[in-house]
Amino acid sequence: MNRRQFIKYSVSMACALGLGMPGWLSAASGSNRFPKGGDKDALLADYFEKIKNFNQVHPHDVFLPEGQRILLHAVVMRLQRLEESVGHANFHLISFDEALQFARQSTTVGPFSPAETEFLESVFYAAAKEYGFLGEKPVTTLTETIPRDKIVRVPSTGNFLFKGMPEEVYMRIRTAVGEDLLLTSGIRGIVKQYALFLHKVLGSDGNYSLASRSLAPPGYSYHGIGDFDVGQLGYGALNFTAQFAETRVFRRLRELGYLNLRYTRDNTFGVRFEPWHIQVVS
Ligand SMILES: [Zn+2]
Repeated sequence: MNRRQFIKYSVSMACALGLGMPGWLSAASGSNRFPKGGDKDALLADYFEKIKNFNQVHPHDVFLPEGQRILLHAVVMRLQRLEESVGHANFHLISFDEALQFARQSTTVGPFSPAETEFLESVFYAAAKEYGFLGEKPVTTLTETIPRDKIVRVPSTGNFLFKGMPEEVYMRIRTAVGEDLLLTSGIRGIVKQYALFLHKVLGSDGNYSLASRSLAPPGYSYHGIGDFDVGQLGYGALNFTAQFAETRVFRRLRELGYLNLRYTRDNTFGVRFEPWHIQVVS
């Protein structure tokens, strides 16, 4: 069954069963950010156009109000200084409260102002589906901490994995595929996800929708609870593009049956195709 057949099937099955549209599609159509009229074909076409051309501006994209752009810029810069001060590896783990405390005590970083803190809180507690991100929110507490005794540092990657299933899955696939399989991103706490997401929002002129098509908003990333990204040695930034699907590492993972992708081409989360992102937790 191809993608279109699958979607038509799920829509018609849901209707036949009296369930209405699938949740992810009705979530999209229920918002004023999407085409109106209940035309399912138009909604689907619009949806897949967005996740295919994820890095382009689309007509119903949601932007940060113009008046808050300076605030966004200040927050992104402060997060960058914080990352440089605590180190890239530690920055993956730092909690919201630790970030605020460290910034307060550092003359290099400087304290987050009340307006900046309020802005960060509003980003965390906003309903991401309003701007097009339709996935679950596995981390719902802003001040969530990552227990240091429940994680391992993966040598020569600057990344961490949770002990248990994530570490086991990684070790298993690395042994099976070979040493040209790299861990490109492991655990990402709330603050790291803020930095990635808001940097993308800033770089796209305040476009929350565009940013969320390639980066989960803080709280919505499964990197916070166990998923991780893999890449091919020597492939650099291409490891985070659809071209990763053409690498030996990807082909080998598929042959071995170890691939369980979080964001497939047909995903219903409003996110681009991510062949590098391994789903560990369900
Ligand atoms: Zn990922």
